[in-house]
Order: sequence, then C-alpha cells, then structure tokens
Amino acid sequence: MNCFNWLDRELSAIREKGLFRDLTELQTGQTPEVSIGGKKYILLGSNSYLGLSVHPEVKKAAADALEKYGAGSGGSRLVSGTTDLHRELEERIAAFKKTEAAVVFSSGYLANIGTVQALAGKGDVIFSDELNHASIIDGCGLSGAEVRVYRHLDYGHLNGLVSAEKSARRKLIVTDTVFSMDGDLADLPELCTISERYGCMLMVDEAHATGVLGKRGSGATEHFGVEKRVPVAMGTLSKAVGSIGGYIAGSKKLIEFIRNRARSFIFDTSPSAPALAASLAAIGIIERDGEMRSHLRKMVEMFKAGIEKTGLEILPSQSAIVPVLIGEPDEAMEFASALRENGVYTPAVRPPSVPAGKCRIRASIMATHEKRHIESAVKAFERAARSVSARVK
Ligand SMILES: *Cc1c(COP(=O)(O)O)cnc(C)c1O
Repeated sequence: MNCFNWLDRELSAIREKGLFRDLTELQTGQTPEVSIGGKKYILLGSNSYLGLSVHPEVKKAAADALEKYGAGSGGSRLVSGTTDLHRELEERIAAFKKTEAAVVFSSGYLANIGTVQALAGKGDVIFSDELNHASIIDGCGLSGAEVRVYRHLDYGHLNGLVSAEKSARRKLIVTDTVFSMDGDLADLPELCTISERYGCMLMVDEAHATGVLGKRGSGATEHFGVEKRVPVAMGTLSKAVGSIGGYIAGSKKLIEFIRNRARSFIFDTSPSAPALAASLAAIGIIERDGEMRSHLRKMVEMFKAGIEKTGLEILPSQSAIVPVLIGEPDEAMEFASALRENGVYTPAVRPPSVPAGKCRIRASIMATHEKRHIESAVKAFERAARSVSARVK
C-alpha cells in the first residue's frame, strides 16, 4: 500500500518511449571546450551565445557585487529586496531596448508567466504561436484567458483568428522572436501591423535574440526597427547576457502595472546582486562589441555549410541555433552519444520540447568558438551520421 507506486509505472512508461531525461554534469563553465567526467568535449549546446558567462569583465563585476552586497537579496522586490543595483540594471535595460522603463525578474520563465497572467485574464483572448516557449504556454494556462494557437509563423491564420474575435475584453498576441528549438525568426513588422489593425496588445520574447540580433545586439525589435511598435518586450539575462534573470521592457505605465500585478514578481525573492552586476557588465559589452556578433555569425555560417555537405538536414535558422533534424527519440539519443564519442557535447532534444517525430540535435554556436572548434564539430557530425545509419541498418 504505497501511495507512490504509480511513480514506477510512470517512469517506465517514460523510459519505454525513449523520453527519459537525465542530467549531464559539466565540471567547467560555458567555455568552447568543457570537461565532463574528466574528459574534454567541444561544447555545442550552450545558450551563452557570446561566451559572456565566463568573460573576465563579467566575472569581476559579479565578484565586486558579491563583496559589496553579499550572496542573497533577502526579500522580494516589494519588501526589502530592491537595491540601487536593481534600479540601475532596469534603467540600463530600458536604454538598451529603447523603452521608457523595464522590470527585472529572477528568470525569463518567471517574467513570462507573470506578465502573460497580468495582461490577460478571464474574458480575454490570447493568440499564441504554436511553437512558443513553454513559459509562454504556461503563462497562457495560468491566465484564465481563452487561448487560440496559430500555426507557426502563419500570419494569415493569425489574422483570421484575430479578425473573427468579436467579444473579447482584451486581446494579446504573444510570440518568441527567435524560436528556441528551431532558431527561426518571427516577422515582427507583420505582427505589429496585425496587432495595430485589430487593437491587440503585442508581447514578444527575445530570449534567443538578445545579444545576438540587431546592430547594438538588443534583439529582434532592433533588427526589424520596430522598437517603438512593440509595447511589451520580454527577454532573458540567462542566455547571451550570460547571467540569470528575465526582464520586461515597455512603457512606464506598463512596468508599474506589472510590478503591481505579476505574481511571479511580487511573490519571488529578488535576484541577487552578483547576477545583476554580471548582467550590467554583459550588456555593456554587448552594446560596444559588435565584433563578437560578426564572429558569431561567421562561425554559424561555417558550421551550417559544413553540416550541409554531410547530407544532414538543417532546419532554416536565422540565429545562433542550428537544429539538425534526426527524427525519432532513439535515433536522436544515439546520434548525441555518437557525437559524445567523437568529442562533441550537444544534447538531443525530444518531446515535449519539440513535436513528435521531429527530434533533433540542437547545436548552438558561441562567439568564443574558433574555426578549429567548428571544423572538429563538423567532422564529429559526419562520423556520428555514418555510425548511426550503420547501426540503424
Ligand atoms: C529560455 C527561455 C525562456 C526562459 O528564460 P529563463 O531565463 O531560462 O528562465 C523564455 N522564453 C524562451 C523563448 C526561452 O528560450
């Protein structure tokens, strides 16, 4: 009579589907080469696209903040957890994103669930791209609003759904700008036009675009020149910025409202000073060092060209994410382990992160990769493709 007997059943069901997930331990930071189990691998699976999580200037800023403020923030933002550093980072983000104001959360996940839930509720309708990140989907679920999912990047479909919506109190269109598992890009000017035409709120998630797209690296809103037309710009400090946290940038009124209504802001301990200081330093580097971004683009192009020659299928991507389509979970897991045998660490991505039958190796390139890393990685993909197809036959 054990009330947790069902755990065995559930776990074996997950294993049978080839969907069991385990953790891989790195003994190093997010550097081009990492150590796993005492062995060296080329890291091709990091979201620290600019390598800033280990940048000396970023580490120094975090260390100095640790010395001055200590480890933890000691409270939620609305109680004792706001410091001058929080304000400084929020002002810095607003300037970076060219908005009036910004608010920082402990993570991008929390920024999304809190903001979607604050903006829409019962009687409202949210229009959401079918490949949006889980944090957006969860925010939609928590909001109590009706959710209409439109086909990925199908703005004709979206326009049809929005124009048919007559009774909603408020309407919110929400999308990733760079999609996390495909690396492709939403058409922001088109989304602005639709949202303006029908009086919808528009919220974009710049998690994988921040630091990567735009001349100053501030994201897809800058890339498309629509900073003034996107009222709610979300982003993370956890990916290219190299630290941890999330933000919303927008009008002063919007930010005041979110501070008052986003539950994941109100009921969460505020992010710690070292993380904030690291983000501040990293944003400074992102803005001044366009070189990093052009080197990153060069490495991405080199990797794509190499993979295309191997006959493997790459999904069309416009970012530092290069998804190599494999298919079924077992094959993807085999492919990832063949890559490991050939000195490359890139995890396989399986459902629920991607649709069934679309398992992939999600390679991500960093600005700290050099030509030699990319060349060895391509060779490893070639060898892995050969050994996996031999084993499957
Ligand atoms: C990673 C990610 C998030 C969550 O951000 P965290 O800071 O990791 O919590 C939100 N949206 C997208 C598209 C992401 O890829």
